[in-house]
Amino acid sequence: MNALHAARLALESELLHALHAQEFVVYYQPRVDLVSGRIDSAEALIRWRHPQRGLVCPGTFIPLAEEVGLIEPIGNWVLDTVFGQQARWLGQQIDVVPIAVNLSAAQLRNGKFVQNIVDALSRHALPAHHIEFELTESMVMHDVELAAAHLQALKKLGIQLSLDDFGTGHSSLAHLQRFPFDAVKIDRAFIRDVNCNAGNAAIATAVIAMAHSLHLRVVAEGVETEGQLQFLRRRRCDELQGFYFSEAVPAAQFETMLVEKTLLALGHQVDEDTLLIVDDEPGTLQTLRRLLRREGYRVLTASGGQEGLNVLALNRVQVIISDQRMPNMSGTQFMRIARELYPDTIRIILSGFTDLAAVTDSVNQGQLFKFMTKPWDDGELVRNIRDAFRLHRQRNG
Ligand SMILES: [Mg+2]
Repeated sequence: MNALHAARLALESELLHALHAQEFVVYYQPRVDLVSGRIDSAEALIRWRHPQRGLVCPGTFIPLAEEVGLIEPIGNWVLDTVFGQQARWLGQQIDVVPIAVNLSAAQLRNGKFVQNIVDALSRHALPAHHIEFELTESMVMHDVELAAAHLQALKKLGIQLSLDDFGTGHSSLAHLQRFPFDAVKIDRAFIRDVNCNAGNAAIATAVIAMAHSLHLRVVAEGVETEGQLQFLRRRRCDELQGFYFSEAVPAAQFETMLVEKTLLALGHQVDEDTLLIVDDEPGTLQTLRRLLRREGYRVLTASGGQEGLNVLALNRVQVIISDQRMPNMSGTQFMRIARELYPDTIRIILSGFTDLAAVTDSVNQGQLFKFMTKPWDDGELVRNIRDAFRLHRQRNG
């Protein structure tokens, strides 16, 4: 017991020293979008560059740091490091992705937590949407009211929130509704043998379906094989993280991946999601085609309603986006015919005009899923289109 106690004391003082001696370092593990294969965020993971022991993983020192009250300063150091790094990348015009930072219960319990985040963001002049926080349910259980207030405030700032290690520990389904999460990360324990263990496959499938119904994105943790990847794609899981794509890497290496736009080869499309865009403006067609091809869809285009109907006759199309004001045939007319001939299609109008009578008319006649206005927000458009394909799948089994 004495020896154990002495070892702990030594580690404790080493930890304190490490904080001041800058022995900690942040690694970044990319997360990949399962439709486009692109890196769409990363998790910041702390490592300890120990002068004698080499690179130490958090599992060995974070629990102790929690016990001895060092977790908060260490957590704050990680926040500051990540915020600073993101701000530098932005300054270098690098196409950054949101970086997810793991929070600790101690940070969340601090009454000044939100203010500290606001201060840190402004210190680095970093817009909040470049940051995401990961937290586990046990952290919010401690003081549900305070946690809910903090999370709502963070969400209002524009920070994304994800629920970490879902499926282990306290997995209260009520929390998914109560807290403003954007994403759920399925714990690696369910992913490990998801393509050969029927029980885990059923759990992963159910979590994905439930999260989607609650409009949450789903991230699979610990994906290591192609089999797991294809299983998750078939179940329409949104993102993966794991060795199959990349381990956690130092900042410089992650920067290279961002700059080179490293892609995950997803292989053969599970079944091709096909989209038709109808617009008489060649420039708009081209911009939309480029944006949506990147998302992994098969994209068909037409410069008018008549041509659009021809395309529909020759192809299986699930989602249609159409301009409103076009010569010969308006978007409203086109959508009404498309609805009658292809009632399964999910229809979206993207219009430069928002005259109320025209909007009402086209929504009613075309039974639209969405009426969106130009200029559009790329992120919102992409989300709406994903939702449209999802709805199509739900309705058609
Ligand atoms: Mg995490």
